[in-house]
Amino acid sequence: MSVSGLPPYDPANIFARILRGEIPCKRVHEDEFALAFHDINPLAPSHVLVIPKGAYVSAADFHAGATTEEIAGFWRAVSLVAKSLGLEATGYRLLANMGLHSGQEVPHFHVHILGGWPLGRMVSPPA
Ligand code: AMP
Repeated sequence: MSVSGLPPYDPANIFARILRGEIPCKRVHEDEFALAFHDINPLAPSHVLVIPKGAYVSAADFHAGATTEEIAGFWRAVSLVAKSLGLEATGYRLLANMGLHSGQEVPHFHVHILGGWPLGRMVSPPA
């Protein structure tokens, strides 16, 4: 079990396959620490996912297991990508789902960058 209570890392998850180049993505940025690409089902005019290069299930796993260099490099890439998308002036939202109650679909840590219009309330109450 991972540190976040999720199952161990599954190397067959879709983002691992994108990292290995087995399936395509609309790449925005890539460096030693991170890959950023457009979400396949965008929820805002700008909706980009940033993933670390390493095999981490969740934010908790990443922050517990990654090196300081990996963590710094990853978060620096998140900010660089948001800037490159032109979102700094109007603002944007960073979001990371983790585990069951968040509805995390892909078990490879990722940060959503959302922006391009007013994003409304941060969360909605359960239906
Ligand atoms: P989460 O619910 O936080 O795990 O978000 C997973 C996100 O990955 C969703 O917003 C999906 O639309 C997105 N997604 C799933 N498969 C792909 C893919 N092949 N390329 C880009 N985005 C994807």
